[in-house]
Amino acid sequence: MRVFLGVKTQKLISRVFVHPVNQSAAVRWGPPQTRLSCSSSPDLEKPPHSMLRHLTSKIKSTGPISVAEYMREVLTNPVTGYYVRNNMLGPDGDFITSPEISQIFGELLGVWIISEWMGAGRPKQLQLVELGPGKGSLASDILRVFSQLQSVLGEASVSLHLVEVSPTLSQLQAQNLTGNTSQEADSEDEPVYRRGKTTAGLPVCWYRRLDDVPTGFSVFVAHEFFDALPIHKFQRTEKGWREVMVDIDPEKPDHLRFVVTPSPTLASSTLVQADERRDHVEVCAEGGVIIQQLVRRITEDGGAALIADYGHDGTKTDTFRAFKGHQLHDVLASPGTADLTADVDFSYLRRMAGGGVACMGPVTQRTFLKNMGIDTRLQVLLRNCTDPNTRKQLISSYDMLTNRAKMGERFLFFSVLHQSRLKKKIPAQLPVAGFTELSFS
Ligand code: SAH
Repeated sequence: MRVFLGVKTQKLISRVFVHPVNQSAAVRWGPPQTRLSCSSSPDLEKPPHSMLRHLTSKIKSTGPISVAEYMREVLTNPVTGYYVRNNMLGPDGDFITSPEISQIFGELLGVWIISEWMGAGRPKQLQLVELGPGKGSLASDILRVFSQLQSVLGEASVSLHLVEVSPTLSQLQAQNLTGNTSQEADSEDEPVYRRGKTTAGLPVCWYRRLDDVPTGFSVFVAHEFFDALPIHKFQRTEKGWREVMVDIDPEKPDHLRFVVTPSPTLASSTLVQADERRDHVEVCAEGGVIIQQLVRRITEDGGAALIADYGHDGTKTDTFRAFKGHQLHDVLASPGTADLTADVDFSYLRRMAGGGVACMGPVTQRTFLKNMGIDTRLQVLLRNCTDPNTRKQLISSYDMLTNRAKMGERFLFFSVLHQSRLKKKIPAQLPVAGFTELSFS
């Protein structure tokens, strides 16, 4: 079933999409065969043995570490972490994401954000908060739609807030969004570690943690962010649930291996649901904490969150994997040289969100983008494009984003909204764009 967008949202879509916003950049490059593409970044060709040394000395002194600790260290250790050291996105990186495949993706999210701002009664302030902004492409495409719809936004004071743990990526984001006019904070203790103005003159600030973002009406966007957060892994055994840990292989001291704890851990006793039916589960407690922070902010200050990632609704078991140079990679081999990821369990996020907010989805990326008007947008771009190569790229990037066998069904969209947003009593309330079902959590 297709969702019927409110007339106002349809108008927004046609205002943005009848004319090309930036046709020449509609395709950033040819679509890859899988989530991963491209060659390894040169940085990664030198394995950071220091990460393996750091992990083995940690295990030697305190015993096996949880998968969550392993993932946190490997990805975000302030010195040797994979995200901290590298620019892994794009043609010279390890993998490619939807915003990097086509600008249409970000444009549609831009329309969704404005539609939600209108649905909330057009508050005077609109903070766009992105978690894990990568190269800044998604924010840049969203802001271009904001400029296009300036007359709709009127006098609203719009600002951009980026939560990014990686100094390397924050520099790249600053380059893309502010053209190198941003300034780093004088001290490392400042909650805002970089600030500047976008090329359109909007204030933009960088933070390490969501907690540091100022309060106020905000729309939060997280694309391929939750899958990078640390997960705990649990195995059902004859003696009950046990946690999977990472240990040194006694046969090969410079290799790591998985072990199962002989007795329950605090995590295995508290994070596995009493009625769990699977034999193996992954729980992203950090993702649960972030959802609760979003819920608190949305409840207190108004706003919405849109979370898009590959994931499942509480059905999958072992999804922890590593990617390096197009290929699946052993998650424990050469830590720090490959991206670690686990599918997002949206049923867990919904449970952690609780009953005080409205949750929508998850719906597939294909459904969401089609409901947001991706077909119309593609037609407009094709109509205005005569170059056969660009036309071919437009069609293949559309296919990559929406094809069921590519990113269309593996990626899911989920939203957290203020409970008042879906109240039927409010006359002329806009339906929530992009989603097929309206339901309270
Ligand atoms: N959203 C982008 C990038 C996805 S990669 C896109 O879709 O293209 C994951 C992003 O999250 C990177 O920017 C990475 O540096 C950031 N990140 C990972 N863990 C983080 C954490 N714990 N806190 C803040 N940012 C994090």
